[in-house]
Amino acid sequence: MKRQQAFKFELRPNGEQQRQMRRFAGACRFVFNRALALQKERYRQGEKHLGYAGLCKLLTEWRNSAETAWLADAPVHPLQQSLKDLCRAYTHFFEKRAERPRFRKKGLSESFRYPDPKQLRLDQANSRLYLPKLGWLRYRNSRGVLGTVKNVTVSQAGGKWFVSIQTEREVQQPLPQAVSAIGIDMGIARFATLSDGTFYAPLNSFRRHERSLRKAQQAMGRKTKFSSNWRKAKARIQRIHTRIGNARRDYLHKATTTISKSHAMVCIEELQVRNMSKSAAGCVEKPGRHVRAKSGLNKAILDQGWFEFRRQLDYKLAWSGGCLIAVAPQNTSRTCPRCGHVSKDNRRKQALFACLDCGFEEHADLVGAINILRAGHARFACEVSDEVMSPAAGTHRSDSGYAPCVA
Ligand SMILES: [Zn+2]
Repeated sequence: MKRQQAFKFELRPNGEQQRQMRRFAGACRFVFNRALALQKERYRQGEKHLGYAGLCKLLTEWRNSAETAWLADAPVHPLQQSLKDLCRAYTHFFEKRAERPRFRKKGLSESFRYPDPKQLRLDQANSRLYLPKLGWLRYRNSRGVLGTVKNVTVSQAGGKWFVSIQTEREVQQPLPQAVSAIGIDMGIARFATLSDGTFYAPLNSFRRHERSLRKAQQAMGRKTKFSSNWRKAKARIQRIHTRIGNARRDYLHKATTTISKSHAMVCIEELQVRNMSKSAAGCVEKPGRHVRAKSGLNKAILDQGWFEFRRQLDYKLAWSGGCLIAVAPQNTSRTCPRCGHVSKDNRRKQALFACLDCGFEEHADLVGAINILRAGHARFACEVSDEVMSPAAGTHRSDSGYAPCVA
């Protein structure tokens, strides 16, 4: 099977390269925003949505026009890639998988991507990488890059520059080392409960840092905008954000690695995270109820990174020869695992499951996990003939990877 994997390193650019990278990221943001404004305007006028090819033609015009001639200083492929990103964002929106594309803000996830491996050169022996219009860049070579380079993304976070090298290689179909199956119930009080009784504590990294973040934000509010103290306060906020992100990533990776190494089949609820985390505020005519409680829940859900947890489980299981099975969440929290009695009154309290029929009592999340495992076994039984769960079907992406570009 083909295995796609990203390798991320910190760059060690010189001053000129840093200035150039800031400019390139800015040019990509400019192109993205200008194209987005154009699409919005066309929509308002009742004109047809422009496709990628049409946008690329416009990009050439912008690069040749006098007022935006500075765009020609940036490499053309990354500029085109930001148009591709916009098209992808629109596709997700049209297919109701995401919100309407929004304008990119300066300083928020600044990045640009080189899609053409022919223009890139990786010199691992000397810990350097050649990128068009930037020249040779040094990087912190912490591990070997495996496979052929497909594309490269340069990004900035917390005042540092990073490079993510996306590769592809042929690997042997892995055989699962583990033989057991497990069900997982995702929750707020417990991040994840496994059907064997183990559980993962909630990922409160954000909560823990929330106060220091709020303080830092208030401190920045008191400073004069763009003064040097304001800049210092801003950098502090960025560092806290980076720390939160790192702690969360680390926690999720450890949990998903352990689970995917110990089990061959992992069953999980199909969760509509997007619906659950929708705004609770409502609108003027129909104000939302329980706004406070719900926004707390929203925050908790986003905080937990359920989506990321699932994504990691999916590809790590594929790498270890296992599989992930998603089951419909119907009644998993109200069915008694001993006698099969289904009632919402089985779960009067949040944490305790108590069957009204046979008196069975257990932690509610554990009951959910057991029911999910059963539902997974049932689904597996109907699907195995269709080879739906063959892990070889499709390639799997890795850690910091994005979807490979589709021409
Ligand atoms: Zn019962």
